[in-house]
Amino acid sequence: MRELEHFVGGEWRTGSGADGADVVNPATNEAVATVAYASEGDLDDAIAAANDAFEEWSETPVEARIQPLFRYKQLLEENQEDLAETLVEEHGKTKAEAMGELRRGIENVEVACGMPTMLQGGHLPHAAPEIDETAVRRPLGTYAAITPFNFPGMIPLWFLPYAVAAGNTFVLKPSEKTPVTAQRLVELADEAGFPDGVISLVNGGPETVNGILEHDGVTGVSFVGSTPVAKHVYETAAKHGKRVQAQGGAKNHILVADSADLDFAAEQTVSSAFANTGQRCLANPVAVVADGVYDEFVEKVVAEAASMTVAPGLDDDSEMGPLITPEHHERVRDYIETGVEEGADLVLDGRDGDVPETGNFLAPSVFADVDPADTIAREEIFGPVLALVRADDVEDAIGIANESDFGNAASLFTSEGADAKRFRHGVDAGNLGVNVGTAAPMAFFHFGGRKDSFFGDLHAQGEDMVHFYTDEHVYIERWPDA
Ligand code: NAD
Repeated sequence: MRELEHFVGGEWRTGSGADGADVVNPATNEAVATVAYASEGDLDDAIAAANDAFEEWSETPVEARIQPLFRYKQLLEENQEDLAETLVEEHGKTKAEAMGELRRGIENVEVACGMPTMLQGGHLPHAAPEIDETAVRRPLGTYAAITPFNFPGMIPLWFLPYAVAAGNTFVLKPSEKTPVTAQRLVELADEAGFPDGVISLVNGGPETVNGILEHDGVTGVSFVGSTPVAKHVYETAAKHGKRVQAQGGAKNHILVADSADLDFAAEQTVSSAFANTGQRCLANPVAVVADGVYDEFVEKVVAEAASMTVAPGLDDDSEMGPLITPEHHERVRDYIETGVEEGADLVLDGRDGDVPETGNFLAPSVFADVDPADTIAREEIFGPVLALVRADDVEDAIGIANESDFGNAASLFTSEGADAKRFRHGVDAGNLGVNVGTAAPMAFFHFGGRKDSFFGDLHAQGEDMVHFYTDEHVYIERWPDA
């Protein structure tokens, strides 16, 4: 079985911490790798090496800093198939989903290759009498990213390319459930030729995370994961004087207007709710549907969801893989039971679906006539469970969506521009889709949510990353004529 390692100062080493864990394939529940976690000493070494490397790397011309990124892009593309298979093995999603998330990750590498332009500040001659002023963006030190299990190939790349292209050094702490893909990402970064210490990898759980948050050698932290941990990371990192951005959980809504193309809306709703087995922060597990088309929409959604093939992610015909762990599988089933107890109408019961016997498989479930106040309409289930809510019209649906504690994304299906305008102005979420099932921005736009879905101000991806990873100094100069 593969033993995972840590990447510290350009060297691979076995973790010397007291704990460790196996990485388990959720389609079989068999271990595929094992990892000994970082000790405090391993973490100290990684951060010290990153701090040392910062001195030279931050002074290396940006044009030279992006050269390994170009090689990295090429290596990621050459290895995309292999990476996707590794990802499926530890995560369970379908290979097409894994290929798609890797493409999204590579897109961030491409955007970060534009750092020579993105890094430029501003210059204003004659800003005041005899005064010229120049704004300069400077890297700040060693940044860390703490990432979740559900997009192991993409989320580290929301951060890594921008951090290093801007002149910082970077430490990745991936989810302990999906660290194999992370190790492959860092192995390829090593092959791409970044100097020792510029990119490091440490494995571990909450103890390692807390070690990072409290460490004097870490300048800033990016976090992506569940809301309670995001809050903890935001507060702890801030308390220790660090820059921090913390993306949390979600419960997104699709709104369906009377004027929507119902076939398209149903297909997109099913895809958004059940892709990645519902384990997506951009999934829309609640659809709020206008009364006039509600019954027809329910029929279409149920037919579409019931036809999905649930199978191991590497099977060619698989449309939905397993949930990440047996414990999570149990948790999602408990939510289905709660929905029934609270009186919602379970029109498609995934517990009776046709699924493989081993592994954490669960077929799609659909609840109709869900009250927006029900647990299954409010809490993040992170599984293949869709709640259908009846609304009077788009205005009413917007009100229901805004009741949510979360604000990561929302989508509206309509053929009326006035509905779209009301939606864009009225819904409090970070990513808004019109006739788009899953509102995921390209890498050159930032990605982040609102309310309990995000803690901080600068988001992941794009221009926001340049601001997060640099500080702007202003030179105010007077050169009086001799
Ligand atoms: P998680 O919060 O359990 O874990 C995320 C990271 O935090 C991991 O690296 C883990 O080791 C660490 N961690 C876990 N518990 C901790 C603790 N008590 N103290 C310190 N660190 C801890 O999240 P997950 O289950 O891996 O991922 C799923 C969650 O992530 C969902 O809530 C999902 O919505 C969210 N997510 C959000 C976004 C976004 O952009 N908003 C993107 C992807 C996933």
